[in-house]
Amino acid sequence: MKVLKFGGSSVANSENIQKVLAIVKQESKNDKVAVVVSAFGKTTDQLISAGNKALKNIADAKETLETIKELHDQIITDLITTHKKEVSSEVAGLFKKLLSIYEGLYLLQELSDKTLAKISSFGERLSSLIIANAAKELFDATHEESRKLITTNNDYLNAQVNFKITDINITSFFDKNKHQVVFLGGFISSNSNHETTTLGRGGSDYSASIYAAALGAKELQIWTDVSGMFTANPRVVKQASPISEISYEEAMELSHFGAKVLYPPTIQPSLRKEIPIRIKNTFDPENLGTLISNNPKNGNEVKGISHIENISLITIEGGGMVGIPGFSQRLFETLSRQKINIVFITQASSEHSICVGLYENDAAKASELLDDTFRSEIDRKKIKPIIVENNLAIIAVVGESLKNYQGLSGQMFSALGKNNVNVRAIAQGSSEKNISAVINKKDAKKALNTLHEQFFGEKIKQLNLFVTGVGNVGERFLAQIHKQNEFLKENLKLTIRVIGISNSKKMVFDSDGINLENWKEKLENGAPTSLESFYNKVKESNHRNSVFIDNTANQQVSEVYEKYLRQSISVVTCNKIACASSYENYKALKEISRKFNASFLFETNVGAGLPIIDTLKNLINSGDQIHKIQAVLSGSLNFVFNNFNENSTFHNVVEQAQQEGYTEPDPKIDLSGVDVARKILILARESGYQLELEDISKNAFLPLDTLETKNNEDFYTSLIKHENHFQKIYAEANDKDCRLKYVAEFKDGKATVGLQHIATDHPFYNLEGSDNIVLFFTERYPENPLLIKGAGAGAEVTASGIFADVIRIANQ
Ligand code: ADP
Ligand code: ASP
Ligand code: MG
Repeated sequence: MKVLKFGGSSVANSENIQKVLAIVKQESKNDKVAVVVSAFGKTTDQLISAGNKALKNIADAKETLETIKELHDQIITDLITTHKKEVSSEVAGLFKKLLSIYEGLYLLQELSDKTLAKISSFGERLSSLIIANAAKELFDATHEESRKLITTNNDYLNAQVNFKITDINITSFFDKNKHQVVFLGGFISSNSNHETTTLGRGGSDYSASIYAAALGAKELQIWTDVSGMFTANPRVVKQASPISEISYEEAMELSHFGAKVLYPPTIQPSLRKEIPIRIKNTFDPENLGTLISNNPKNGNEVKGISHIENISLITIEGGGMVGIPGFSQRLFETLSRQKINIVFITQASSEHSICVGLYENDAAKASELLDDTFRSEIDRKKIKPIIVENNLAIIAVVGESLKNYQGLSGQMFSALGKNNVNVRAIAQGSSEKNISAVINKKDAKKALNTLHEQFFGEKIKQLNLFVTGVGNVGERFLAQIHKQNEFLKENLKLTIRVIGISNSKKMVFDSDGINLENWKEKLENGAPTSLESFYNKVKESNHRNSVFIDNTANQQVSEVYEKYLRQSISVVTCNKIACASSYENYKALKEISRKFNASFLFETNVGAGLPIIDTLKNLINSGDQIHKIQAVLSGSLNFVFNNFNENSTFHNVVEQAQQEGYTEPDPKIDLSGVDVARKILILARESGYQLELEDISKNAFLPLDTLETKNNEDFYTSLIKHENHFQKIYAEANDKDCRLKYVAEFKDGKATVGLQHIATDHPFYNLEGSDNIVLFFTERYPENPLLIKGAGAGAEVTASGIFADVIRIANQ
C-alpha cells in the first residue's frame, strides 16, 4: 500500500489532473494506492473569500461562486464521459448547498468557525469526487468521503485528530475495499457529532500522513509543484536546490519555520510508524525529489534555511521577574488557554526579560491578555507594560548536526551583519537542530539569500551593482561586465547583476538584473532621478552584496558615499573628489567603511586601471614604509607633451587628448596640475601621511589668464593666444636634449607637482602615449624602486580598473 497526495496546483486544471492520473496509474500497477487530493487550485481561498463577501454583499459572493463552478464544470467536461450526467448533477447539488449557506450567512450576518469549516470543506469534497470519477474511466478506482474516516475534536478550523477512532475507521474501510485505487479529499474531517471540521490550511498533507500511518503504508508521496524540499524557498532564493535526503526532525523543523511545501503536523503520524515520505514534482515526475526518513544519507551540516513572515515579538521585562518562579508558566498558560501559538522563545540568562515570537494577527490579543495576567505586577511597577513589536520575520538555519559544527552561529550572524541585517532576537533550540533569529520583515529576502550563499557556498556568489554615471567610463564598464559575465560565472563562481543605472536625468531599476543588451533604451525610458531618489531606491531594493559605483567626476555624487557605506553598501569610484577632499572627510569615509563592513575602493583614482593603490596597500599592510614616491601620473599631460613639438600646436594636441578620452571633462583640471596634485595627495594619504591639497606645491606652466578661464571654449581660445609661450617651454627642454614630463613627487612628508626636464637616462624619458609610471622607494626597495608602468588614462582601462575593484569586493 502507498499513499499519494496531490496539492492544489497539481490539480489546478484538466491538463494537470491528466498528469496526476498518469502518475497514479503508474504507481498503482503493482500496489494498492490511496490518493489524497487538495481542492482545485485556489478554490479554498475563493470559498473563504466568498464567505466574507456574503456578509456584505450576496451578489459578490455569488459571482465568486460562479467562477468556482465554471472551473469545476470545465474539468468535468474535459475528463468525464461515461458518468458525466450523474457527476454533473451531484456536483450541481453541492453548489446548490453552498449557495444556500452563503445566503444564510448574508441573512445572519455572522460567519462562525463552524460555518467557515463547512464552506472550506467543499473544495476537497468536490475535487476528490470529480477526480475519482475521471479516474474510473482509466483504471479501477473508487471515491470515499474523508469526513467519514477522520474524526476530530471541535476545533473546527484546526481540529485535533482522534487517532484511536480514526485509525479504526480507516483500517476497517480499507479492509473491505476491493478497488485498486481509493480517492479521498484531504484537509476535511468531522467531529463526533458528524459536523464538518478541517485540519488547518495546507492540511491535505496531514490527511495523507494520517492515512499512511493508519494503513502502515510503505511510502507516503507528497506530489507538489516543486522538485522536493529545497535548501530554501525556491521562490525567494533563486539559487536554492532540492535536498535529496533529510531526517524527519530536520524536515519538521524546516516546515515549522515556514517551508510551506510540507504542512508541519504532517511528519508526526508517519514518523511514528517510520514511513518514508517522498516529496515529488507532478510536473517533473522523473525527478527523485526529497526523501524524508530516519536515516538520511549524510549531506551538508546545514540542511536548509526557512523563514516565517508576519511575526510579532512580545517582550516582558522588569527587575520584578528575577527569581520569581512560575513567571513563564503564567505567560505560557495565558497564551495557550486562548490557543495562541508561540513560534519562538528567548529568555535572557539574567531572567530580567522574556521574549516570545507570535504570528502578527495574534499579537494584539496576546498583549491584551498578558496585560491582564500581569496587571498587579505592572501596577506595582515590578515589570514594565508589555512591549509589542510588529513587522518582523523569523529566519531559521536548520540541520541535525549543527551541534557538531563549530562557529556556525558566528558565521550566520557575521554574514547577516555584513549585509546590514539587524538581528532583534536569537534562539537556539535545545535540540540544536536550528538556530533562529528575528529580523525586520523587509530584510527577510536579503537575509535568506545571504545565508544561503554562506552555507551552500559552492554555489555562485552574487554581487548587485548600482551604477551612477554612464558616460565614457560607465558605458564601457557595463559593456565589459556584459561581455565577461559568463566567464565570471564559470571561473570565479560569481554573477554580477546590475540592478540600477542612472545618469544625471534618468534612472532605471530591475531587481532581477537589467538586461545589459539594451540598458540604454531602458534608461532613456526610465524614471526621473536625483541623488536622493536613486539612493532611496537602492536602499529600498535591499539586496545583499550591494555595490554603489560612481563613474562621474561630480562633487555632489562624491558626497553621498557616506550614506551608502552606512547601509553596508560598498562604494567603488573613479571620482577623485572624495579622496582628495579634506583629510578629515577622507579619514571619516575610511572609518565608516570599516565600521559598517562595506568596502570603499578607488583604485582608478590614480593611474586608471593600473594596480597602484592596491600595491601600495599591500606594501603598507605587510609592514613596509614609503620613503619617496616619484611619478608621472597624468595620462593626459603625458599624451600632450609626448605629442607636442615644433610641428604641432599646443591647443590642437590638447583637443586631441580630450577627444580620445584622456582628459577630465574639463581639460583645465589636468593642465593646471590639479588632477596630478589630487593623485599624489591620495598616494601620500594611502601611505599613511596626513596631508591636504593646499599643502602640495604646484609649478604651474599655464599662463595666469588661461588658468582663470571659466569654460572650455575660453580655455581653448586662451591656449591659441599663448602658443608662443608653449613653444618656448618646448624649445628650452629640446635644446637640452630633454623631454617634458609633468612629475609628481612625495618625499619627507612633502609633495610637489610640476613640469620637469627629463634627461635620456631617466626611467621617465621613454614614457609613451598616455602611460603612467610610479616609482615607490621604500624600506624594502630603497635604491631600486618598485616600478609600476602602463596605460594610465582612457575610458577602457579606467572601466577595467573599476571592474577589478568590483572583483576585489567579490573575493573578500
Ligand atoms: P501544494 O499545493 O502542492 O500543497 P504548496 O503551495 O502548499 O503546494 O507548497 C509548495 C510550495 O512551497 C512551493 O511552490 C514553494 O513556493 C513553497 N516552499 C517554501 N519553502 C520551500 C522549500 N524549502 N522547499 C520547497 N518549496 C518551498
Ligand atoms: N485546500 C486546503 C488549503 O488550501 C488544504 C490543502 O490544499 O492542503 O488550505
Ligand atoms: Mg500544501
